[in-house]
Amino acid sequence: MPALNATQPPFGLMQDWPLTVDRVLEHARVNHGHREIVSRSVEGPIVRETYADLYARARQVSTALLEDCVQPGDRIATLAWNGARHMELWFGAMGIGAVLHTVNPRLFPEQIAWIINDAGDTHMFFDLTFLPIVEQLAEKCPAVRRWVLMTDEAHAPPAGKIPNLAIYESFIAGKSRDVTWGNFDERTAAGLCYTSGTTGNPKGVLYSHRSNVLHSLTSLQRDSLGFSVDDVIMPIVPLFHANAWGITFSAPAVGAKLVMPGSKMDGPSIYELMDAEKVTFSAAVPTVWLMLKQYLEETGKRLPHLDRIVVAGSAVPEAILRSYEDDYGVKVFHAWGMTEMSPLGSMGATTPEFREQGKDAVQRNKLKQGRPSFGVEMKIVDDNGNELPRDGKTTGHLVVRGPAIAGAYFKNAGGNILDKDGYFDTGDVAHMCPLGYMQITDRAKDVIKSGGEWISSIDIENIAVGHPAVANAAAIGLAHPKWDERPLLVIELKPGQSASREDILAFLTGKIAKWWLPDDVAFVEKIPLGATGKLNKLQLRQTFRGYTWPEQAVAAR
Ligand code: AMP
Repeated sequence: MPALNATQPPFGLMQDWPLTVDRVLEHARVNHGHREIVSRSVEGPIVRETYADLYARARQVSTALLEDCVQPGDRIATLAWNGARHMELWFGAMGIGAVLHTVNPRLFPEQIAWIINDAGDTHMFFDLTFLPIVEQLAEKCPAVRRWVLMTDEAHAPPAGKIPNLAIYESFIAGKSRDVTWGNFDERTAAGLCYTSGTTGNPKGVLYSHRSNVLHSLTSLQRDSLGFSVDDVIMPIVPLFHANAWGITFSAPAVGAKLVMPGSKMDGPSIYELMDAEKVTFSAAVPTVWLMLKQYLEETGKRLPHLDRIVVAGSAVPEAILRSYEDDYGVKVFHAWGMTEMSPLGSMGATTPEFREQGKDAVQRNKLKQGRPSFGVEMKIVDDNGNELPRDGKTTGHLVVRGPAIAGAYFKNAGGNILDKDGYFDTGDVAHMCPLGYMQITDRAKDVIKSGGEWISSIDIENIAVGHPAVANAAAIGLAHPKWDERPLLVIELKPGQSASREDILAFLTGKIAKWWLPDDVAFVEKIPLGATGKLNKLQLRQTFRGYTWPEQAVAAR
């Protein structure tokens, strides 16, 4: 503990307590040591561990890493699902000042190899599921000194192609728990996560201990995630997607029970675990909520313990929001954020002004991405960086700043990313209302610009997925002879359902401005999704490049 600085009058006289993440787990061990972390293991069975166990095993991980010559600042990579072992590594690596680098296994092997090499990872811990990928990666990533398969000897494969392979349970077995955690500057790097990067190479976001701790305190505000010791939390959002939205820190900070779904994220598996463990809170992207809703509808099952869910990553479709709230009694919170923001930026908690207007107004307002919590500042600006009015209709570039928001990318990729006032351009286009609610209308690069005016692809998509036959929808802007760009609506139908172009357009009519109505509807077997489950519009724009608009659509405009 640094000495109190009593000699310099401008400073306060409070204790200096570096905000390092090991303190979160220390708190959980002392105050909530018996609370459980329940994981569906990759090997199959459900595994139960407590925060006290997690703490003990994470310390063994630290010793094992130190004995393997890991130095502060070294990058320790994971290719792993949500489970207790992944959490042990998280705290075991961060506690000794190493950097835990979560790699998204849904990327292509070449992208994974590129990221591992760019990060300069020295160790790679991976789940059994990813053995085939790692067999391809090993020779392409020469800087990785140790590959560790996250299982026990009983499940280890016969010696294969991977050099320097260790088996996790043997790697940490019998290791000392007597290790020093923390005791370094709170600005020390703690975690690394590459952005999805739909254009160009992915860029690394390097979180610090301080930013992680502040982000979890911010997210524990009641109008944000607002966890309590009463909660049973299932992060379906993967740990490799921006720290599972910070839940790995905020859940132990309050001693909430954690339920980890492992590799099984289909409707029946999620339902089974939620029901058995009485999950009260969960967070995931809309695709997951759509799958679970379909399962509940097919089976007539219900989730009586589930109190609230957070939907983020892409905009929540109205049909999902209303169904969870009205049919299943689950409160839906719509959040917005990005990897660069640790990731939470705004949250759709309802203010009294809307509550007074009744349920319908509240639910319509929840379709917006919400308001920032203390710790995030946001505004919208024009192309020249001038602030735009918060009038609920003027759209502009959404810029943000705060202590848990990136100030630069890893290795300074992309150079300076802040404006003169320290704001980071999110790449999102949004408007804000006088009460501070922000609504994303598009990614700047997905905006459809028709005759110089912006059309919101997100609005069109959200309404389209409300059509009973539609499983998923994507609106993209394509070149048009008269208007520069016009929207094409790409539709994936639910299995066994049918709908025509005219049905879909009739469904949209009256729900959006007339000039926003897509000029055509294309039906595809499957809408491509990116590595974090979002619509892959880049791929769709490539697929439909050179599209010929129907004659009547061109003539009508
Ligand atoms: P990622 O860093 O991969 O999580 O991507 C962040 C981006 O996802 C944001 O900049 C938004 O474009 C998008 N996004 C996240 N949450 C939402 C939301 N609730 N509504 C619309 N877009 C969202």
